[in-house]
Amino acid sequence: MISVIEPATEQVMAEVPRAGVEETDAAIARAKAAFESWRRLAPGERAGLMRRLADALDERRDGLATLEARNVGKPIADARGEIGMVVDTFRYYAGAPERLLGQTIPVAGGVDMTFREPLGVVGLITPWNFPLCIASWKVAPALAAGNTVVLKPAELTPLTAIELEKIALDAGLPEGVLNVVAGPGSVCGTRLVEHPDVAKIAFTGSTEVGRRIAAGAAETIKRVTLELGGKSANIVFADADLQAAAEAAPLAVFANAGQDCCARSRILVESTAVDDFLAALERSVTALRVGDPLDDETQMGPLISADQRETVSSYVPDDAPVAIRGSAPDAPGFWYPPTVLAPVSNSDRAATEEIFGPVACVIPFADEREAVRIANDTIYGLSGSIWSRDGARALRVAREVETGVLSINSNSSVRVTTPFGGFKQSGYGRELGPSALDAYTEVKNVFYATEEG
Ligand code: NAD
Repeated sequence: MISVIEPATEQVMAEVPRAGVEETDAAIARAKAAFESWRRLAPGERAGLMRRLADALDERRDGLATLEARNVGKPIADARGEIGMVVDTFRYYAGAPERLLGQTIPVAGGVDMTFREPLGVVGLITPWNFPLCIASWKVAPALAAGNTVVLKPAELTPLTAIELEKIALDAGLPEGVLNVVAGPGSVCGTRLVEHPDVAKIAFTGSTEVGRRIAAGAAETIKRVTLELGGKSANIVFADADLQAAAEAAPLAVFANAGQDCCARSRILVESTAVDDFLAALERSVTALRVGDPLDDETQMGPLISADQRETVSSYVPDDAPVAIRGSAPDAPGFWYPPTVLAPVSNSDRAATEEIFGPVACVIPFADEREAVRIANDTIYGLSGSIWSRDGARALRVAREVETGVLSINSNSSVRVTTPFGGFKQSGYGRELGPSALDAYTEVKNVFYATEEG
C-alpha cells in the first residue's frame, strides 16, 4: 500500500494500493483494447463525452480542491483555481475532435491531403506539485485526438488522479480509455517507457528523470514530450513600477511553497534600484500569510515532505546572505519560511540549481546586456518576467531571453489557451493551447491520383 501523507499535519490521510509491473501491463492492455473504438467514435460523440467529463469534474470541484489542498499542502484558494483550470482544459479540448484539420496540398496528377492520426496508447507521467492540473494538460488533448491513456501520478499525490479515473467512467467514457496506475516511478514509470505497446510518453518532472526517460524511449523510438525543471529570471529594470514588481515578486516564487517549475527564483534587479526594491520586497514577503492550507486566507503552505525540507534547507547554510525571512508556523508540518538571499552571484549554488522551495535570490545587474547574459546563464529555459516602463526595451529583452514562456509587467505564464513549455534543459514539446494536439497526433499524407486513365 502507499501511505499518503498530509504535509500540513504529517499524518497519513489515505492508503491506496501500490501498483507494480503487473498492474501497469494490465492498464496498457486495457488502453490498447479500447483504442480502436475510441479512435473510430464520431468526432462529435468524442467531443460530447469530453464535455460530459468536464461537467462531472465541475460538479466535483469543491471536493477535488479540498483533496488536492490536503494532499499537496497547497492553499485551498490556489487548489480551487487549479481545479477550475482542469475543468476549463477539458472544455477547451472538447472542441478539438471536430477541429483536427488537415491540409490539401497542390501537386501534379491528383489530390494530396493530410490527416492527423492518433498515436495509440499514450503513457502520461506527472509530478506532485500540481497533480490534477498537469495531468489534465496531457489527458485532455491526448483523448481529444483519439488516443487512449495510462496516467501514472506521483506516488506522493495519487488521490485526485484516482478520482479522475472514477469520474471519467461515471461520465460515460468507455472502459479502458482513461487508466490510472498509482505506483513508483522506478517501477510503473519505467514499465510505461519500455513497453512496446505504448506509442508516446508525455512527462512532467525533474530534468534528471526526464533525461532517463528520453534515453529509455529511444529503444522503441517512442514519441516523447518533456516538461522539466526551471530556474527562471524575474528581470526588474530601474525604470519599472518598482512597487508593483516588488508586490508581485513573492508569489512568483513562493506560491505553492516555491515548488513550481515556473518559479521566478532568480530576481535580477538593476543595481541602481536594488535598495528601493529590497525595501518594498521586505514589506511584501513579511506580509505573506503562511499557514493552514485549508484556511481561505492562506497564501503559502508547507513543503511536500520532510525530505524536500531537508533539501531546501541545504541551500541556506548558516553563512547564507539571508536578507529577508518571512514567517512559518512552529507546529507539525513540513514548514519552511519564505526566504530571500541578497546579494547573490549567478554562479552561487542557490542561483544555479532548482531549489524547488521558498528561497529566492536577488542578483544585481549593471545594464540591459548584463541582464540578458545573466538570465541566459543557466541550463534551464522555462519561464520568466521583465519589468520595465520602456516597452521597446521590454520587447527587445523578451526576444533575447532563452525561455519558452515570458511575461512583461506580470508574472503569469500559464493559460489553457496558450502554449507552455521550455527551451534548453527545461524540456521539449508544448502543452496547452492549440499546439498541444501536435504532440498527440501523427501527420499522414495521402495522394489520390485523379488523372483520366
Ligand atoms: P520527478 O522527476 O522525481 O518525478 C516525476 C514523475 O516521474 C513521478 O510520477 C515519478 O514517479 C516519475 N518517475 C520517477 N522516476 C522515474 C523513472 N525512472 N522512470 C519513469 N518515471 C519516473 O519530479 P517531482 O519531484 O515529482 O517533481 C518536481 C520536478 O518536476 C521539478 O524539477 C519541477 O521543475 C518539475 N516540474 C516541471 C513542470 C513543467 O511543466 N516544466 C511542472 C511541474 C514540475
